[in-house]
Amino acid sequence: MELDDHAEELASDLGVDKEEVKSDLQNLVEYSVPVDEAKQSLRRKYGDGSSGGGGTPSAKNVADVTPEDGSVTVTATVLTAGKRSIRYQGSDHVIVEGQLADETGRIDYTAWEEFGLEPGDTITAGNAGVREWDGEPELNLGESTALSFEDDSLAVPDEIGGEAQLADLETGDRARTIEVAVLECERRTIDGRDGETEILSGVLGDESGRLPFTNWEPAPEIEDGGPVRIENAYVQEFRGVPEVNVSEFSRVTPIDREIDVGSDATTMDVGEAVRTGGIYDVELVGNAIAVRDGSGLIQRCPECYRVIQKGQCRTHGDVDGIDDLRVKAIIDDGTGTVTAILDDELTEDVYGGNLEDALEAAREAMDQEVVADEIRENIVGREYRVRGHLSVDEYGANLDAEAFEENDDDPAARATAFLEEVDA
Ligand SMILES: [Zn+2]
Repeated sequence: MELDDHAEELASDLGVDKEEVKSDLQNLVEYSVPVDEAKQSLRRKYGDGSSGGGGTPSAKNVADVTPEDGSVTVTATVLTAGKRSIRYQGSDHVIVEGQLADETGRIDYTAWEEFGLEPGDTITAGNAGVREWDGEPELNLGESTALSFEDDSLAVPDEIGGEAQLADLETGDRARTIEVAVLECERRTIDGRDGETEILSGVLGDESGRLPFTNWEPAPEIEDGGPVRIENAYVQEFRGVPEVNVSEFSRVTPIDREIDVGSDATTMDVGEAVRTGGIYDVELVGNAIAVRDGSGLIQRCPECYRVIQKGQCRTHGDVDGIDDLRVKAIIDDGTGTVTAILDDELTEDVYGGNLEDALEAAREAMDQEVVADEIRENIVGREYRVRGHLSVDEYGANLDAEAFEENDDDPAARATAFLEEVDA
């Protein structure tokens, strides 16, 4: 059914103007509310009686808002307000996203109208829509929201503004302010939503860690490579790890303090690391319990560089494969498992030979599996310290290894190191 038909049906059920219902419906669907849910909340709004709703939504404390509320009235302080441009049905909308808080708690919001929200403002949002995102309620401030600014501020326990360290950033964060060094930066041309466009991408670092970034409208201050303050950045997942997004609405200013980028990756339990959903730079210690198929001597497609089976690329069909070395090793520390993926160089180390040696061994044995077997013999049962980028997605937990070293610390030294870390 088209949106128009849904509106028609609702309007006749509720005995209200179709255009009004349609615009409400459109709004909700625009906020990614599933159409059935949107219709239900409109039935409540227009007093269908079926859910006893209707009238002005009741005032609620932030902590009491639940995804089941169709709409609510809240008084809260704006902690963050970040602008972002989204494309919906072919046109661009500027939205404002951030967090609100009162004495009881915090809640994410999206403002679809230009209300002029600034961090520190205390507002009352009458008839704010509630939607569920990732199991949590979120407020939608839109056309039907009556928004007023309060003179008295609330005693909000949360810090106003979005200052954060890279290690604290999570996918979904909005309106964050960071002070970072630019560790890597390259200008690239991508196929954007408006055709070819130039962006910057690379790696940022601060005292707490490192994260990849994309700068959608190249900022000279970032390209210059000096330390910068970035206001109004947001965090999105890209290839399974959080990535800092610097948009046209972000403010980038050079700063003249040195940023001492921590060179140590965070060391974590495997289980803990996997539960984060993805980390850019992490160190894990665990036993290599198996070497998976597709390890050792492999062949890649010359077109897309993906691994091929029996000369067949899933995309490019029959191809002349390029020989390469890699290892997919399962690492287990008792709290969980990840697959560590070793590139050709790291594979040479654990194999104890290079590509020529591997090809020679395969020719002699008339079986390329001998290379994987040799690697299996070398590493399974030993403990390794693995550092790299962890992504967790439908393909499982994969650690793109930058370092893979046998862990020869004795347990006492490890315990001491651990205690030092806890103390720090
Ligand atoms: Zn291919």
